[in-house]
Parts: sequence; structure tokens; C-alpha cells
Amino acid sequence: MGYSIQYIAGAVGGHLLQGDATSVMIEHLLLDSRRLIFPTTSLFFALKGPRRYGGQFIKELFRRGVRNFVVEEAQELPGANQVIVKDTLAALQALAAGHRRQYTLPVVGITGSNGKTIIKEWLNQLLEEEYEIVRSPKSYNSQTGVPLSVWQLGPQHELAIFEAGVSLRGEMERLEPVIRPTLGVFTNIGEAHSEGFSSRAEKAREKMKLFAHAETLVYCSDQPETVKALPAGPTLFAWGHDENAAIRIRSTEKKAGWTVIGLTHGAAEFTVSIPFTDPASIENALHCVAVLLLLGQPVQRIQTSLALLQPIAMRLELKSGINHCSIINDSYSADLNSLSIALDFLSQQQQHDRRTVILSDFLESGREENELYATIAQTLGQKQVDRLIGIGPRIGAHAAAFGQWFPGETAFYPTVEAFRSDLGRLHFRDESILIKGARVFEFEEIDSLLTERIHQTVMEVNLNAMAENLRQWRQLLQPATRVMAMVKAFGYGSGSFEIANLLQFHGVDWLGVAYADEGVMLRKGGIRIPIMVMNTEDSSFQSLVEYNLEPVIYSFSLLRTFDRWLKKEGIPAFPVHIELETGMNRLGFPNEEIDELLRVLPGAAFKVLSVFSHFAASEEAQQDAFTNKQAQLYLATAQRLQDALGYPILQHLANSAGIARHPELQLDMVRLGIGLYGIDPAGSGRLDLQEVSTLKTTIAQIKHLRTGDTIGYNRRGIASAGTVTATVRIGYADGYSRSLGNGVGKMWVNGRLAPTIGIVSMDMTMIDITGIPDVKEGDEVVVFGKELSVNQLAIWSQTIPYEILTSVSQRVKRIYFEE
Ligand SMILES: *Cc1c(COP(=O)(O)O)cnc(C)c1O
Repeated sequence: MGYSIQYIAGAVGGHLLQGDATSVMIEHLLLDSRRLIFPTTSLFFALKGPRRYGGQFIKELFRRGVRNFVVEEAQELPGANQVIVKDTLAALQALAAGHRRQYTLPVVGITGSNGKTIIKEWLNQLLEEEYEIVRSPKSYNSQTGVPLSVWQLGPQHELAIFEAGVSLRGEMERLEPVIRPTLGVFTNIGEAHSEGFSSRAEKAREKMKLFAHAETLVYCSDQPETVKALPAGPTLFAWGHDENAAIRIRSTEKKAGWTVIGLTHGAAEFTVSIPFTDPASIENALHCVAVLLLLGQPVQRIQTSLALLQPIAMRLELKSGINHCSIINDSYSADLNSLSIALDFLSQQQQHDRRTVILSDFLESGREENELYATIAQTLGQKQVDRLIGIGPRIGAHAAAFGQWFPGETAFYPTVEAFRSDLGRLHFRDESILIKGARVFEFEEIDSLLTERIHQTVMEVNLNAMAENLRQWRQLLQPATRVMAMVKAFGYGSGSFEIANLLQFHGVDWLGVAYADEGVMLRKGGIRIPIMVMNTEDSSFQSLVEYNLEPVIYSFSLLRTFDRWLKKEGIPAFPVHIELETGMNRLGFPNEEIDELLRVLPGAAFKVLSVFSHFAASEEAQQDAFTNKQAQLYLATAQRLQDALGYPILQHLANSAGIARHPELQLDMVRLGIGLYGIDPAGSGRLDLQEVSTLKTTIAQIKHLRTGDTIGYNRRGIASAGTVTATVRIGYADGYSRSLGNGVGKMWVNGRLAPTIGIVSMDMTMIDITGIPDVKEGDEVVVFGKELSVNQLAIWSQTIPYEILTSVSQRVKRIYFEE
């Protein structure tokens, strides 16, 4: 497969500057220079973001062997082909739309607010034996994700399933020709208001534009907003409770983890059983039933396959494994695209130098096996994997391809069983391990062999949410404003280099920590971007220099001792930051010391990189006059410093609340802290942030008490008639404050809030679950997260979200995941 650059220039309506006469066929579309694997056959699109222009990576990519580029402005690049276009994103979409037009096959297009990825993955589960399917990898459903998904389409495919997600007006019109679905699925229209649309009705109409040329559209007729937005073109195919629905729901019955649904379709009456009971899963499954019927699947087969539906692992998770390993489990698919995504996640995490990948057979038939395994071997080599463990008969049969294309160690086993019996010899230790296999290989067993048993309170950190929060904050900034991400105090409790890695990957300019040892830890974890240390002690000078950390100079005593030390060591122009006192009265040079500072600074062994101050109350409107006074004093003093030093220094002032409430004070850089973790400190409502962390625990025991029984230390909890309590595995030593005892705090149990009862113990807390149905020992309990915000917990314990987040103790395991 592939297209010539001449064809591509024509397809995107661009002008070709041909500098490379070798006529390679383009096979790969590259949007992110960090994801380069096949230089000669890749075409790089220099996309424009609000802050970054892909163009800045062209030179580097050229050096790495890329010769084909789509750009908006021609570059000095002798020996490269450049297609010049007005809009690189539009060109990418046009190319993918052109590719789509080459094929006539049923294409299922899915959009709506929730459930897109699950429905897509379930349809794949339900139909993979009948069809050769191509589908969007993970949730690639954006303006760039859709073209990349559609680009995978090849002559061997018999069915395509693509999802589309939009957040702004006009976006769906651009995705429609790229997917050009023949069969549409509109999942639902969610509650969440989204900033890009004036109303939910408008959002629904916009999403429906995906179906402008579809032959048939599946939707749920129980949703009035969906019905109102239906488009004119396609034949409608509804499921729901009303008489007119093509598939009518006659009955729904839940029992022991299953839902049995009675359906009428035309003359046929039948029931389906699905192994889920939550409303979202039922809705998703019924969308699938409608698609299966439209594709002509016999009812009996639908019934059998639906009963086998499996939950979808929507995310990549990083967990602690045995012998200090880190484990990433992605054992629900094995195809090239999801392999690259998982390998990117592996390298982005850079937990350990050594990387092992455990891989099953790949089930991409329609592709020549020799070529398939050679590509896998090359990909693993490019991503600097050190060891491959292949499990399955097919991958083992291609051991030679790995010998040829993959420089690392290899081991092959026919079955998981054989792998397990050889576990001792494989010596897993201090390495990152990616487990990736098709579902039929049941790699869950490998996951449980390698994962550390942990005490069951965990904090889950959603890395996508963090990246998305960063993106949102950046939208409030001028394009040139730099971002210093504050990761002090173990990344506000969320983790240190795992978080810093992500921030580095997403191009933040600086990191800020409180103490030198936090910076040292980041450097040891492979963080290369500049790090500012706010609070330096004399004993850490050596580490600062050794690990290239930039101290804040906030007083004369620190200035003199550090300057003297640097001169003694013969180190000139060491990078530092200067902090000014403007009203917080914590650290910094007060106004009356500035004359003296200006006198000594030019002679010190420093290179001043920036001058800053910190707001005392930027989140409080009633303090705005004071905040402005701080800003005026800061600006005047910073200017004097700038004049005295004679080389450019950065000015920065705003923390999260400052960014949200005082946009005019962004200056050269902002210091973003709590906002990154999903908390809007000013409650400005201008941002749609997602809380990054979820703290979860489990129920150790349930007790049915009698009236007058008492609960916990000092007998502060008292049972009334029929009281049922659950003892959960979290206490004040984990960071669950004693102030939350005796009903002050609540936890989220099976969809309801359960108040604490009695005093919080060191490692355990009792909660009152009277009247909450279906709760059993071992069940999960959410302490804070999506259902119960950190803010709410802070209000209950009369503190602020900052303290709640940073109090979660180190003994609580952090699990990092990407959705
Ligand atoms: C912690 C800190 C920040 C970040 O504050 P947030 O309110 O979390 O955004 C910024 N600057 C300094 C000096 C800090 O100590």
C-alpha cells in the first residue's frame, strides 16, 4: 500500500516542491515527531496548534531521515519533498477522505456524548469472527485521530468501525467525508455542557452531521433530544420502549450480574442476556444489537455472542510489579496501531532503563505474516525495547524475523502455561514491562503473576485528564506565555516523575519544586527540562550543581553563601531565580532591600533567569485591590532589575487562581499548580477541568448491629435499629483525616454516599451503609474522585483541596493510567 508524493500533492490540492527524486511510496502519516518509526516512508504534516507549530520539528525530522513534508510555508530543505498547502490539518483530512473513497465496504460511524469507544470495541468483539475489521485505535476520534484511523483502511477489510468526537461547531462537517459512514450510530447526548456549543440541542444537531450521507441511522427513541435532532437523509432505525421503534423493548429484568431484555423486531420476539447491569452498558449493548440486526446477523448468533461480551479496558495502566518492575497491562488487543500507542506510553513513562515487551500472536490476517512480524520487530527495535517475550504459535514461528530485525533479547513460548513454568529463569527485575496480547490469549494471568499484591487502598492518577487540564489552561494564555508546572510536594500528592514525565512530554517549559531533593528525584527519573527549586538550604548546593537545578535566591544570606560557594568552586554564571517580597511575607527581597540587591547582583556568580513574586490571595475577589498592589510593586521592581542586569530575564507572577482571575498578569510565564490537578481554585467556571486523582479503598468487613451497639474507639458511634456498617481499609495514617469521623465525612459506595460512623482509626474507618443495596465485602469504595470531589472533602474537614491531596500518604500506591 502507499501513495506517491505526486498523487498526495494532487489529492490535498497542494503545490509540490520536489527535492527528492527517489520515488518512495508514502505509507505512514506522521503528526508528532516523537512518534517517528519509519523515516523514509513517512509523510510529516506540520500542524499548527495554538502554541506549537509542527514546523519547528522539520529540521530534526529531516536529520532523522524523513524526506516528505506537508507544510504551510516552504522551508530551506534541499533534498526533501514539500507539499505546500494553505491549511495542513485540512490537507490531512482531505488525504484521508480521498483514501476512504477508494473503498466500498460497510462503514459504521459512531458519535454521541458517551459510549463511542465501548460500542466500537464491542462491535469488534461481536463481529470479529465474521468480518475482517478495521477500527479506530483506542479512542482516536478527534480532528487528527479520525484521519489516522481511516488511513489504516486496506483492501483486505470487509467492515470498518470508526468513531468521531467533536467539541466545536463546524468540526463534524470536516470529519464526515473522512469517515463517510454507511451505517450511523448516535449513542446519546450527555448531560455535560460543553463550552463549544450554546446548547445541548445545538450539540446534538452538530454531531448528527456525521450522518449526512449515511444510508441508515441507529438511535435510541427514548431520548427526546436525540429524536429532535435527527437528520433528514438516512433511513431511521430506532430502538426503545415506544410502539414505533424498529426494535421495541418489552421487558428488562436484572438478576445476579445479568440483564435479560425482551425485544420485538418485526415479527420476531426474542430475549437477549448481557453480563452487565448498569444502564450505560445496557444502552451500549442495545446499540450493538441494532447494528448486528442491520448487518443481517441471525438472532441466535446475536444471543450467543452478546452473552460473551467482555468489559473493555479503556485505559493503559502503570502499576508496580514484582522485584521493582513497573507493569503496563494492555491485554485486550494485539494490532500494530495499539502496539505503537502502548509503546509510546511505555517510553513516555521511562520508569526504568530496561524495557521488556510480552506479546501474543497478532491477529491481523489479511496481512502477509512475514511482513507483519518484520514490522513488529522493527517497531520494537525503534522504540528501544530490550527484550521481547513472544507467546503463541504464530509469533514463535517468526522467531527468525526478530533475529533479523530486533537487536534485543528474545524468548518464545507456545502458551501462557509454558511461560509460567519458565518464569524463574526470566529474571524480571528493575524493568518496565508491557503486557500486550489479543483477548483470546488471556494475558490477565501474566498480569497477576507479575503485579505486586498491594494493600487495597490506591490512588489512581488519570494522565489524560492532566494533559487535558494543561491544554485548557494553555487556552487562557497568550501563545508566547511560558508555563512553569508546579510539582512540589510529590506533585501535589499525585506522583513525582510520572507526572513530570507527562508534563515534559507535553512541552511545559519549567518545573517548580520546593526542595532540592525533589529536583534530584526528578533528574534521576530522567527529567531534562529546567527545574526551579524554591527553598534551598546550604547543604544542598552540591546537588544543585550536580543535577542542574536552579535555586531561588530570596535573601541576602542565601545570596552571599551561595555566591561565595560558587566562586570557591570556580563556577561562573550559575542559573538562579530571584524572588521579590510584595505582600505574602513568606520569602523574597522586600522593597527596602532592592537598592542593595541591584548593587551586589551584577557581581555575583549568577545568571539570573527570572524574577518573580507570589500572590497572597489571587483567588479572592475581595482582595483584588491588594493583589493589584502586589502586581504594581512587582512590575516596578522587576523592571529595575531588568535594567540593572542588562540581559533579558523572565518575569512571572501568576499562580492558578492568578491565571484564571487576572489574565492581564500572565507576563512571560505563569506558575501553574493546583489547576493542573483539576481543581479550579477560584471557582471561575471558565474551565472544564477534570480532577486527576481518585482515592479508592475496599471493604474489609460488613457488620449487622443491634440497637445500642457502639462502633470504634471511645464508643463514639452508636447503632440504631438495623444499622449496617462497613469497615474500609483507610485511616488517618493514609491521609483520611480524623476530623472526618462521626458522620462528618462520607464515602461513595455503590452509587450512594455513606457517612462515617465513630472515630477514624489509624488504618481503618467504619462507614454506615444501612439501606444501601447490594454491598458486599471486597467492594470498592471511593474516598474522592469523579463522584465525590476533593473540594467537598475539603469543605467537610474544614480545609482546602491542596491539603487533602498532599495528605494522601506515601504508603497508598499510585496507579497511573491513560484512557
Ligand atoms: C505552589 C506555588 C505556586 C502554584 O500555586 P497554585 O495555587 O497551586 O497554582 C506558584 N508559585 C509559588 C511560588 C508556589 O509556591
